[in-house]
Amino acid sequence: VSFDQQDGYIWFNGEFVQWADAKVHVLTHGLHYASAVFEGERAYDGEIFKLTEHTERLHESARILGFKIPYSVEEIDEACRQLLAKQGMKDAYVRPIAWRGSESMGVSAQNNRINLAIAIWEWPSYFDPEQKLKGIRLDIAEYRRPDPRTAPSKSKAAGLYMICTLSKHAAEAKGYADAMMLDWRGQVAEATGANIFFVKDGKLHTPTPDCFLNGITRQTIIDLAKRRGIEVVERVIMPEELEGFEQCFICGTAAEVTPVAEIGPYSFKPAEITKVLMEDYSNEVRPGLRAAAE
Ligand code: PMP
Repeated sequence: VSFDQQDGYIWFNGEFVQWADAKVHVLTHGLHYASAVFEGERAYDGEIFKLTEHTERLHESARILGFKIPYSVEEIDEACRQLLAKQGMKDAYVRPIAWRGSESMGVSAQNNRINLAIAIWEWPSYFDPEQKLKGIRLDIAEYRRPDPRTAPSKSKAAGLYMICTLSKHAAEAKGYADAMMLDWRGQVAEATGANIFFVKDGKLHTPTPDCFLNGITRQTIIDLAKRRGIEVVERVIMPEELEGFEQCFICGTAAEVTPVAEIGPYSFKPAEITKVLMEDYSNEVRPGLRAAAE
């Protein structure tokens, strides 16, 4: 079945509506001019991991785009929890989205309604599980993450995903699972929907997130690494340096921790540190296992 024709409910401006009935008008500002921001969260064993951090980032993304979501962080958190229960799911992906509505048409949309919807569905693995174990293959994207003076790069804004979809499609057409993107300066940035880490001489190296999302998973990985006594170096990484790295993985809410075997001409071998962090992350996200580890 088509994704818009599933069973279940969507939370839509304060109400639970039937999944297939959660519609917007074709003259929606968010559709024409990308005035939309969203989140991606995962529930594990019935609890949404770092829910409030995600909801706060949603509010912040909207603020950067110049609009205010008419529901508080507490109200949105509660709506997500209620919807998870109503969908009857324990392990699931959570997608809140806020957008400017269809009350007026044109670039300016000062008085358009700000809408909020939340959908929850089962999304077991972002990458093919078999490939994920061996390490996925990444292309190097043609498009670059924009200068923060060119785009609101700290917002999880729908418009910023235009270059991600283009890059991911181009990579898939060449048989790659995803693409690594450089930033406008030519520095290593991230994948199309996940942050990137490298391992060399027992240390983690990751680009400083100054023009892309400082992912909640990225921050969790840095925490977990520090707890293990693994040094984390946040710095400028140039693509030529990939030659010298031993391991590589990407991480994000959907991707979780996914080892990388190849990036264009460079290859890596998933080993100890990647495996330990994959395991630590999968314990950290589950309330029962997290408690056990503390
Ligand atoms: N970068 C991009 C472009 C993303 O879409 C995501 C996923 N939201 C991330 C990084 C990772 O963010 P998080 O760990 O908060 O999901």
